Amino acid sequence: MFETLSDRLDKVFTGLRGKGRLSDADIDATAREIRIALLEADVALPVVREFIGSVKERARGAAVSQALNPAQQIIKIVNEELVGILGGETRRIRYAKTSPTVIMLAGLQGAGKTTLAGKLGRWLKAQGHTPLLVACDLQRPNAVNQLSVVAGQAGVDVYAPQPGNGVGDPIEVARESIEHARRTMHDVVVVDTAGRLGIDAELMAQAAGIRDAVQPDETLFVVDAMIGQDAVTTAIAFQEGVGFSGVVLTKLDGDARGGAALSVRGVTGQPIMFASTGEKLADFDVFHPERMASRILG
Ligand code: GDP
Repeated sequence: MFETLSDRLDKVFTGLRGKGRLSDADIDATAREIRIALLEADVALPVVREFIGSVKERARGAAVSQALNPAQQIIKIVNEELVGILGGETRRIRYAKTSPTVIMLAGLQGAGKTTLAGKLGRWLKAQGHTPLLVACDLQRPNAVNQLSVVAGQAGVDVYAPQPGNGVGDPIEVARESIEHARRTMHDVVVVDTAGRLGIDAELMAQAAGIRDAVQPDETLFVVDAMIGQDAVTTAIAFQEGVGFSGVVLTKLDGDARGGAALSVRGVTGQPIMFASTGEKLADFDVFHPERMASRILG
């Protein structure tokens, strides 16, 4: 992840080393190279435009100051702007004043929602919570079973329709799960929902129905970082269809160019809250914009 972008930016900065004061033409040329590096990394065009606009403006201002050499100045500016597009501060979960806190997961099939439910369960438990994972993905035949398996691995409880009771209504299951959590003293409910391979109206309506039934404190849009620009299109569709308060990037361990990570916050205005970096439940952490920016800049 980000190797190409890191390499490209490194080349841009290397080209600046040893230079004295930067002329406007130098700054424009540097901005153009950074622009190409971002576009090649699959970053969404509006995000690239804004990024380059701020870098240029700040570089022109900073070029006057003699405090640092130009390469260092540009690196510092690019670093700060990267932190900015990645969301600035780390955004923590907002827990409800009255338990249970409800966290709903939404996203396409295969994005990693069910795995994430297990990861979140494990993480929440380590933070001292007593999470309940709720199986509302009743579309995919094995999803309920898969959720039970990850809940078992995480050592947390699961709420699912009983086998043999038919497919069940996910909205009803979601509603009942909140009552169940109250009775059984679970303080965080994580609702796994169904995803389709593509965006479709029925899926959105079902997710919106679950949202209305459980009134989530956080709705996390789960997105596979490997899908590049499609991450942005999908994010916009989910923002319109269901709405969400935070993003979880999955498969950051994959060989992706990083465009999704760098675009989704800028396009939706919602923060990236967690990152998944593998199939195991431990491959998961809170998302830290400044650490990610440092990783990109090497
Ligand atoms: P869902 O359809 O959204 O519930 O997706 P799943 O949780 O079933 O995940 C789909 C596939 O992606 C599974 O094979 C997971 O093991 C895998 N997966 C999930 N998260 C990650 C991740 O962060 N990295 C990698 N490499 N694989 C992941």
